Amino acid sequence: MVAAEVVVIGAGIAGLCAARVLHEAGKEVLVVARELGEASRVPEALLNPVRGKRGSVAPEAEEALAALWDFYPRFVPVQKGILRPVPPAHRPAWKEKLKGRGIPHQWLGEGLYLESAGWLETTPLLHRLAQGLEVIYAEVERLEGRTLHLCTPAPATLSAGLVVYAGGASGAHLVGLGGRFTPGSVLHTLEHFPQARAYGVYVAGHSLGGSYLPHWSSYTPHQTQPAEVEWLLAEAEKLLGYRPRWDASWAGVRYRLDRHYLRPIPGGYALTGFGSAAYFYAPLYAHRLLQQIN
Ligand SMILES: Cc1cc2nc3c(=O)[nH]c(=O)nc-3n(C[C@H](O)[C@H](O)[C@H](O)COP(=O)(O)OP(=O)(O)OC[C@H]3O[C@@H](n4cnc5c(N)ncnc54)[C@H](O)[C@@H]3O)c2cc1C
Repeated sequence: MVAAEVVVIGAGIAGLCAARVLHEAGKEVLVVARELGEASRVPEALLNPVRGKRGSVAPEAEEALAALWDFYPRFVPVQKGILRPVPPAHRPAWKEKLKGRGIPHQWLGEGLYLESAGWLETTPLLHRLAQGLEVIYAEVERLEGRTLHLCTPAPATLSAGLVVYAGGASGAHLVGLGGRFTPGSVLHTLEHFPQARAYGVYVAGHSLGGSYLPHWSSYTPHQTQPAEVEWLLAEAEKLLGYRPRWDASWAGVRYRLDRHYLRPIPGGYALTGFGSAAYFYAPLYAHRLLQQIN
């Protein structure tokens, strides 16, 4: 028997945005996940259209911004604005990249202020998105087309009308799409940063985050290393002029596929591989998935 018209594997930001958008469009959706989010439990997430220290404007940034501002504020507060303290010598190159793009911004003495960027607390959002959806907490051991083989809590099979794989880094072996796995950490700071700032590392809310570790070719769970803490604090000193005090750390693994975040797989679609822009792109790609299915 078919368990649901659409079965979404994964209850991170990718899976829950997709499930919520499909559910609101009247589809019968079942989410199957080991737990509520994994990498998506990064404590605070930036929604940042201008990436890295080079100031590359994210592909489809205008569409992604429109989709996320239409979607997230219905569920949780979203804090507006990110300040990018770009050194004066690099500003001409950044200005060139922003030319002709529809990204609202201002150049201030301190750097680039992105007024339509922002940040949010992730855990309340994941809970709100899951509310009212049908979710089974179980481990998928194998995926064969539209059949899911579950191993916990008890061996079972589920068949779907259509499968959407949104299992992120830790489930990537189920679909074998390759990609890069990048570990990283966030420190919980005692100080609260209502204004997000990002250059090298970022601060937003109680988070100091960033990543300098090399990519892996497969998923391995990550734990914060002392050298990472030192790197984060040294970069924070460049960003803020001092080392913020901190009392706990969170570690996760990003999963990156080059741009093909929505692709056909046997039995349905994979919606994954957003790297560190998952919260930025998830609402846009959830709508793209709905268009594909329709
Ligand atoms: C240090 C750091 C900082 C970051 N900062 C940001 C940021 O500022 N902004 C941003 O947008 N992103 C950021 N990210 C990236 C972001 O956290 C993740 O890329 C993103 O949340 C991944 O979402 P996802 O839904 O694809 O996967 P996940 O959140 O990993 O969800 C995967 C889901 O699939 C389930 N699953 C996996 N395998 C199985 C299985 N076999 N059976 C059943 N269920 C399974 C899991 O239980 C989970 O529910 C950061 C990451 C790191 C490491």
